Amino acid sequence: MSQTQTVLPEESSTNSRSHEMGAQTLYDKCMALASNMWWAWNPEVINLFRDLDPIRWRQLDHNPIALLKEFTPARLESRATEMVLYSRIHHAYRQLKAYVSSNRPTWATMHAGVLGAKPVAYFSAEFGIHESVPIYSGGLGVLSGDHIKSASGLGLPLVAIGLFYDQGYFKQRLDEEGYQVEEYMDTRVDNLPLKPVLDDNGQQLTISIDTRTGKLLARVWLMFVGRVRLYLLDCDVEGNSPEDRSLTSRLYGGDERTRIRQELVLGVGGVRALKALGITPGVYHLNEGHSAFAPLEAVRQRMVDDGLSFDDGLREVTRHTVFTTHTPVPAGHDRFAAESVEEHLGPLRDALGISYEQLMGLGRVEPQNVEESFCMTVLGLKLSRRANAVSSLHGHVSRRMWAHLWPWRAEEEIPIGHITNGVHVPSWLAYQMNQLYDRYFPAGWMQRMGEPEAWQSIYDVDPGELWETHNSLKNLMLAFVRRRISRQCRRRGESDEAVETARNLLDPDVLTIGFARRFATYKRADLIMRDMDRLCAILSDEERPVQIIYAGKAHPKDEPGKELIRKIANARFESRFRNRLVFIEDYDVNVCRHLIQGVDVWLNNPRRPLEASGTSGQKVVLNGGLNFSVLDGWWAEAFDGRNGFAIGSGTSHTSDEIGDQRDADSLFEVLESRIIPLYYKRDVDGLPGEWVRMMMHSIGSLAWRFSAHRMLMDYARTCYVPAAGGLSCDMNFR
Ligand SMILES: *Cc1c(COP(=O)(O)O)cnc(C)c1O
Repeated sequence: MSQTQTVLPEESSTNSRSHEMGAQTLYDKCMALASNMWWAWNPEVINLFRDLDPIRWRQLDHNPIALLKEFTPARLESRATEMVLYSRIHHAYRQLKAYVSSNRPTWATMHAGVLGAKPVAYFSAEFGIHESVPIYSGGLGVLSGDHIKSASGLGLPLVAIGLFYDQGYFKQRLDEEGYQVEEYMDTRVDNLPLKPVLDDNGQQLTISIDTRTGKLLARVWLMFVGRVRLYLLDCDVEGNSPEDRSLTSRLYGGDERTRIRQELVLGVGGVRALKALGITPGVYHLNEGHSAFAPLEAVRQRMVDDGLSFDDGLREVTRHTVFTTHTPVPAGHDRFAAESVEEHLGPLRDALGISYEQLMGLGRVEPQNVEESFCMTVLGLKLSRRANAVSSLHGHVSRRMWAHLWPWRAEEEIPIGHITNGVHVPSWLAYQMNQLYDRYFPAGWMQRMGEPEAWQSIYDVDPGELWETHNSLKNLMLAFVRRRISRQCRRRGESDEAVETARNLLDPDVLTIGFARRFATYKRADLIMRDMDRLCAILSDEERPVQIIYAGKAHPKDEPGKELIRKIANARFESRFRNRLVFIEDYDVNVCRHLIQGVDVWLNNPRRPLEASGTSGQKVVLNGGLNFSVLDGWWAEAFDGRNGFAIGSGTSHTSDEIGDQRDADSLFEVLESRIIPLYYKRDVDGLPGEWVRMMMHSIGSLAWRFSAHRMLMDYARTCYVPAAGGLSCDMNFR
């Protein structure tokens, strides 16, 4: 049914040339551009929307549908005339059309043909695609967004399944004391690029799941992300109890019961939705344990459709399932009480014909151990043909953590491999930097951005030009930061003087460090504050000062995290910091994009080995910033001594206190003796020659390796193709 809905909204039948397009046609083309998230990684289209009304564009969170709704076709046409937008609109529309409907071979046609008949079904609890679509909270979501964008770019047949949160994740405000306050906003569906999926009766497709305590309904939305279809389930439907209607309102809101019900909808509901859509996946990819119920529903379908026994169905489905684990701490894995599992999975268990003990056993390391709660990661590991961690180091940690699931195997034989995360280059690379690369890099390099060869021309770029481009991006970032801080001051009712100070904060000639991430305690946002005097001396140095920009949200229930934010936000009022330490509220994809495109140095100092991968530093690489990080997550395998800076020597500590002190010592030592001197060491022409060489080496050695294209190619070769029954080429993978 809805398979027939095309990726592109219907084109108006008038076949007009650009200069004689009618107002309505012009409007429809703009709406078509706004209705496929493809625009979000195409600078020409972004600029086009901005040029329609730069101020409203910013105020509306860069939401093109909301923007276009403020225009009538006639007003749009006159604005297009004024700004000479006709040919740009027409061109962008043709590009989109060619992109979504081209029959030209892609990377996937050559390397993953088997998926053409049976696509990958990619399940994730959140998708971070753009700030205007608030259905993500942080790293996991942004990774999922980048995953499907690169799948689209490589032409990989993949459908994605997630949940629609109509209030999303919270917006962060700080009160007068610097204390985090959470605000939830209602998202208007009609301002989002969502289309209802229709059933045979023309009604919005609704799937239903029985529990022991009643039925749960969810309707299905469709969002186009380039060539990829993203289906989102939403419990706000008539027929659900008022409580259930808000089940999918918020991301990670609520208690254990909310979580298991959300995960039931995502996993079981997701597989039902695919079935109703007539999609038969060749691969189920469970991105984190949240969706690990999915294979159970897939088994039920095989039993009904093909008459398989439970055991045969399980064997079959497992062969087609791959699982990615993201959590290096045992406490971070979703666990549910047995009664809760029985309440929610009971009817499915009946249909599978398995006992209570059998079902519970699937979520336990020791199936018979009634003391053990039901763990979604264990379920994912047991129901998949192979699992992967998200960096090399995280692979080691995960194999050790789950070794007791395979007690007869040596640690290196534990079937958990790794595919290191990467980022979607077109989404994170600044426009100006992209233009510079275009002038030096081989034609079509963007199509091959996951391969090292595409990036080697970075060493031919004129160092002065690279430095100039970086500095203009830094200035744009500083303007953004000043705008945000003065807005924060005004909202808190601070004096005109304070607002004025904010307008002049920060200096483009000063070495600028960025630190932005979730304020979980293990990330140690205040590590650099362990020695306040030393920090003050560094920030306020007359000759070679440093400034630091912070951003990040704490989980609503994380009091220590909120305390940290207060501490950092209030540093602004201490004169000894000379306004060289600032905190921007409401970290999201937009704030992240500004920071990673403009900083000189990106600081990351988690407690090793608790950062599974981290991806923000990979975004920094693309734009010429340098990483300064603990050898954890992706950086443990990326750092080569010449492409950035390391904190510590790659050891883990059993005592937090000792580890924190050692890392803080190392941080100061490297900052004072390496980073600051290198940044301020200028050649005769005023250029920091060695610094720029390091920027080049960082880009040349890291950008391709930590791109989502490389990540997707790894997933395709080592997971998807074998799982879909294609010829195995499992090199370097357990
Ligand atoms: C990229 C990104 C992240 C992930 O970065 P980490 O390195 O894991 O902190 C988190 N939040 C947002 C908004 C991002 O854009």
